[in-house]
Amino acid sequence: MATAYIALGSNLGDRKKNLTTALFHLVREPRIILEKLSSFIETKPYGVTDQPDFLNGCCRIWTDLSPRQLLTALQAIEDKMGRVRTRRWGERIIDLDILLYDDITVNDPDLVIPHPDMKNRAFVLEPLKEIAPDLTAKL
Ligand code: ATP
Ligand code: CA
Ligand code: CA
Repeated sequence: MATAYIALGSNLGDRKKNLTTALFHLVREPRIILEKLSSFIETKPYGVTDQPDFLNGCCRIWTDLSPRQLLTALQAIEDKMGRVRTRRWGERIIDLDILLYDDITVNDPDLVIPHPDMKNRAFVLEPLKEIAPDLTAKL
């Protein structure tokens, strides 16, 4: 089993419900075990600032899905929840990003692990630090 960290974010509709619904779908995945969940924190939008504030969180999972299979599973959850893809870094009911997957590095056009910009994002680091303080100290 691999250990992976997933970032969750929402800034449209009932944000807390959206994060909870995404986690519900995650828990129902047969090959994913939700092992630890952070608090949800309210954050200012990153990059594109003329949009509502976000609610962000992070979780640790155990999985025997490959990184690519995990990406597909997360995108299926986003699609199932009706995410509409608009502008880059724009508003969304749910965003699920793979932050880390064991010690694996992936550099494909459509999948980069560790998530390239995570170190610069307080809304990622703060929840991550809550559930994995040792890990964030090493980033
Ligand atoms: P950012 O990735 O900078 O946080 P974003 O989450 O707004 O931006 P999206 O529109 O949700 O970007 O996704 C764009 C593409 O990013 C996805 O189609 C996916 O293929 C790709 N991607 C690359 N690396 C990852 C990753 N580690 N986790 C999730 N998606 C990734
Ligand atoms: Ca993102
Ligand atoms: Ca994303």
